Amino acid sequence: MLPLAWIWRVELQWVTLDHPGRGRLPQHNDRIGLIRGDITTLAVDAIVNAANNSLLGGGGVDGAIHRAAGRGLINECRTLNGCDTGSAKITDAYNLPCKKVIHTVGPVYDDLRPERSETALRGCYRSSLELAVQHGLKTIAFSGISTGVYGYPSLDACQVACDTVKQFMDQNGKKLDKVIFVTFEAKDVRSYDSTLPLYFPPD
Ligand code: ADP
Repeated sequence: MLPLAWIWRVELQWVTLDHPGRGRLPQHNDRIGLIRGDITTLAVDAIVNAANNSLLGGGGVDGAIHRAAGRGLINECRTLNGCDTGSAKITDAYNLPCKKVIHTVGPVYDDLRPERSETALRGCYRSSLELAVQHGLKTIAFSGISTGVYGYPSLDACQVACDTVKQFMDQNGKKLDKVIFVTFEAKDVRSYDSTLPLYFPPD
């Protein structure tokens, strides 16, 4: 049997993905995916951007998404009046191969008040999934919200992401076909490799 990541690569026509465990069967069920690569290349229904409160672009994945999408994206973002931490807004995707971009604003990790950071991060995943469902988007790829310059510890962020997505999928049945966690750095790959099987055991 082919690894699921390979099957999805064909289905979704994505371009430069590199699953670190190629040759191994990924540890997830058939509605959850884990890939390592550039989220801007994914021909899914929606990608989720780790944006900042201004929604006017920044570094990291936000910068990569704006560069790949072109000027149309920043022009639309200017009309949105920013976004609160823990919330999400949606735009068209312009030159990107996906259909829509969901912009969510993760917390800057506060190690004195980690529970506040967790509440905000849960809000990011939940509000992004709610927006996807409202817009009839079935396949959604998340970047690692807050796990870059916002400093959320990788394993903790991964557990929040998996738990929130699992709760949403349990409650919302078949409204979503697939949720894909997109990792970029080795630390995040390791976090998802160890955490995904706990939340999404293979079918
Ligand atoms: P934040 O400010 O929310 O921490 P960053 O953009 O700094 O956002 O990082 C979020 C995550 O996105 C990090 O895990 C980083 O490794 C990852 N990342 C950076 N560029 C890309 C990309 N092109 N595709 C997918 N993930 C990316």
